[in-house]
Amino acid sequence: MPEVILGNNPTGEICEKCGEPLIFKYGRNGPFIGCSNYPACRNTKSILKFTGAKCPACGSDLVERRTRRGRVFYGCAAYDPEDEAACQFSLWKQPLPQPCPACGGLLVEAKSEQAQCHECEQIFPKDTLPPPPKSSIVDDKPKPAIVYLPVE
Ligand SMILES: [Zn+2]
Ligand SMILES: [Zn+2]
Ligand SMILES: [Zn+2]
Repeated sequence: MPEVILGNNPTGEICEKCGEPLIFKYGRNGPFIGCSNYPACRNTKSILKFTGAKCPACGSDLVERRTRRGRVFYGCAAYDPEDEAACQFSLWKQPLPQPCPACGGLLVEAKSEQAQCHECEQIFPKDTLPPPPKSSIVDDKPKPAIVYLPVE
């Protein structure tokens, strides 16, 4: 994963609660986004970590997330806890940017250097997969789009 940065640098976004700039901060669970007006404003957001894979349900990016207990899972960037109609797709296994060579479905990490298709369940050794498509390469800057998950 690329390094995600950067204590106290502005994110370029404005806090929707108080109107002050949002900044990158470090916390117990790594970097997150907080309000520069802290402690007066305690607004926080998670930084999205893109996996390079696309959601098979809606085509949005799949991003790394954590449960309240800190366990990593992967979910759709379109997910919105406030919106029941938003995409709910999620996985425990890390998705891969390459599509399944057999059916074009989503590949996920399997054990010992293998990838398994989420759709057709076929297993492929990772070293036989084509390189990830260029468009999926994760750049090293956090995107402006932010998920509204509270950081504990
Ligand atoms: Zn604020
Ligand atoms: Zn989705
Ligand atoms: Zn497949």
